[in-house]
Amino acid sequence: MTGLRNGFAGPEPLRDDSASARCPTPPPGRRRELADGTGMAELHESIASLLASRGQWRQAYHHLRSALDLMSTEDTPRVPEQLRHEVKRLRREHAEAREQSRRDSLTASYNRRYLDERLADLVSDDSGADGLAVALVDLDWFKHVNDTYGHLLGDRVLQRVVDLLQEVLPAGAFCARYGGEEFVLVFPTIDAAAAVAACEGARARIERFPWGQMAPGLRVTVSIGIAHEQHSTLGPEAAPPSAEQQLISADALLYAAKQSGRNAVAYRAGSEVRLASGRMPSGY
Ligand code: GH3
Ligand code: MG
Ligand code: MG
Repeated sequence: MTGLRNGFAGPEPLRDDSASARCPTPPPGRRRELADGTGMAELHESIASLLASRGQWRQAYHHLRSALDLMSTEDTPRVPEQLRHEVKRLRREHAEAREQSRRDSLTASYNRRYLDERLADLVSDDSGADGLAVALVDLDWFKHVNDTYGHLLGDRVLQRVVDLLQEVLPAGAFCARYGGEEFVLVFPTIDAAAAVAACEGARARIERFPWGQMAPGLRVTVSIGIAHEQHSTLGPEAAPPSAEQQLISADALLYAAKQSGRNAVAYRAGSEVRLASGRMPSGY
């Protein structure tokens, strides 16, 4: 990666009457360092520190990469140990800050910001031949859990539910907190039947978990609505539904699952709304 690629032109080339021109010719590695190595690398590194101190992690990272690239070519001296450590530290801090900004602090699931960003990308990407599934998961009668056992226990239930949801997610899928006691499961490339099976597995796992060990008499279940979209089945003129439209569809199906008596998974098959249990939801 060059400085130019980062929109940074770099220092003026040394003129003939400069100190380097008057000195005896340095060995090749040293010449490179003076001409375009160390000066540029230091500049990139300083810019990186400045950007990092402002929280502009992405740009800072690019400058650090440029500094490292310049300093790690074969014929230049070794990268000073201190700089190596500094780069490592900034990379670690960058990764931590990025991860924190994507996570929900209570449950450690992804947060709404991450969900919005990823979903927007996923709905505009039609490369997933099997389609994209978005499932809205809502804890049943959760207000009652809080009222009976207290909010602290309610918080622990939310954490455990996320753990259980994540255990059944296939590779590539993720769980994000939508808000309150609602979570979204996103399956980037999955066919409709597999999405229903995964959500039904999650529902059953949560129902079967020994909640009574957490608090006597405690019982926790979830209801889930799944919206599945397959770009390849859309006509050439049809626009794929937006992330918001897909969430609205999942919400309507979640409502059907609640109406059916809760602890259920609802999905659409053609124009019909069905439950994963095989029952038909009332009124559909
Ligand atoms: P339903 O089956 O219809 O979804 O009923 P519900 O009781 O789950 O739904 P309702 O919307 O009436 O209540 C949701 C409750 O979730 C109320 C709110 O206090 C609780 N809740 C939301 N976020 C948190 C949280 O972070 N921690 C705890 N402990 N409770 C939360
Ligand atoms: Mg709710
Ligand atoms: Mg609820």
